[in-house]
Amino acid sequence: MSGRRGGRTVARVRNAVAWTLVSLVGLAACDAAPAAPAAPRAVVDVPAVVDVSAVVDVPVAVDAPAPRECDTPDACDWIEPYQREVIGRLAGREEVAPGVTLAHRASVAERAAARAYLRDALAARGLDVSLRAYATGQNVVASLPATAGATAAARIVVGAHYDSVPAGPGAADDGTGVAIVLAAARYLAELPRRDHPVDFVLFDQEEVGLVGSAVYAGALREQEAAVDSVHCFDMVSFDGDGDGAVELWSPSAGLEDLYRLHGTPRGIPIRAVTFASSDHQSFLRRGFAAVGVGEEFVGGDHTPHYHRATDTFDRIDFAYLGRITHLALDVLADRVVD
Ligand SMILES: [Zn+2]
Repeated sequence: MSGRRGGRTVARVRNAVAWTLVSLVGLAACDAAPAAPAAPRAVVDVPAVVDVSAVVDVPVAVDAPAPRECDTPDACDWIEPYQREVIGRLAGREEVAPGVTLAHRASVAERAAARAYLRDALAARGLDVSLRAYATGQNVVASLPATAGATAAARIVVGAHYDSVPAGPGAADDGTGVAIVLAAARYLAELPRRDHPVDFVLFDQEEVGLVGSAVYAGALREQEAAVDSVHCFDMVSFDGDGDGAVELWSPSAGLEDLYRLHGTPRGIPIRAVTFASSDHQSFLRRGFAAVGVGEEFVGGDHTPHYHRATDTFDRIDFAYLGRITHLALDVLADRVVD
C-alpha cells in the first residue's frame, strides 16, 4: 500500500504523521504488525508511510485521499493483529495505559481506563468520539458521517459492550465484540462512499442489566432519530464443533436475509434464534430494527469460560473471530451504501 503513494504526498503525510503519532502511541504500537523480522532500514521507512490511515481524516492538506488499506475484508491483513491488540489490552494481557493492567472491567476505575483506551483508539482512526455520561456510567460514541453528496439518511449503529463481570477479564465477553466494532470503524472509515452515517457505540454496564445501551437507545428514541438498523456484537470467540456458525439474536425483518446473503458465500451457517439478554434488546424494545450477533450461545456451542476467571485472551479462537469479522464488514459495507 505504501508503494502506491506519490512522493509529494508522502512528504506531506510524513509531516502529518510527525505530530499525529505523538497522540497515537498505543495505536502505532498496535498497528505495527509483528510479522516478518524487519530489515534495519524498514525501521526508517515503514512506520511513517504505512501507519497513516488515521491521517486521512485529520485536517491536513493532502493532495489526494490516501489509498485504502484494503478493498475487501479478506484483503485486510491488519484485522487479526489489530483485534489481538485490542483484546489483549482490554483483557489484561498487556497494559491498557502506562502502569495500568486490567483484571476485569467491572469497577468504576477499570471501566474508566478501558473507555479512555477505546476513545483514543477510535479517535486515532479519525472519528469524532465522545463520552456520553449518564447517572452510573458512560458510553463511548464515535460518529462517522456519510460521504459528501449523500442526502441525510438514517444512521446505522454498530455496538458492543466494554464492561465485564467482576469474575474475570472478559476477553470473549465482550472484548471480541469490541474488537469487531473497532475493526468495522477502521474499515468503514475508508469506504469511498457512505450513504448512511454510522455510530460506533461501546456500551457501559451491559452486565448489570443492559444499562448503557438502554440509555443510548432511549436517547435515540427521544430525539426521534432516524435509524436504519442496529448491529450489536457480543461474544464471538468459540466454535467448539467447528461448523463456523454464528447466531443472530432476534433479528428484525430483513436483517437475517442480509447476514445470510453474505454468510452463505463465505460458508458461514446463519442461525436465527430468539434471545434477549444482550444490548440489541435495548433497541428492539424501543422499536428500532436490530440484531445481536454472537457465537452459538443459545445453540449450546459457546465458550465454557463464560463469566469466569478463565475468560482470557489465550482462549479466544482468533480464526473464528476473523471469519465473523469479515462477515460483519461485508454486511455493514453493504448496508451503508444504498
Ligand atoms: Zn456480553
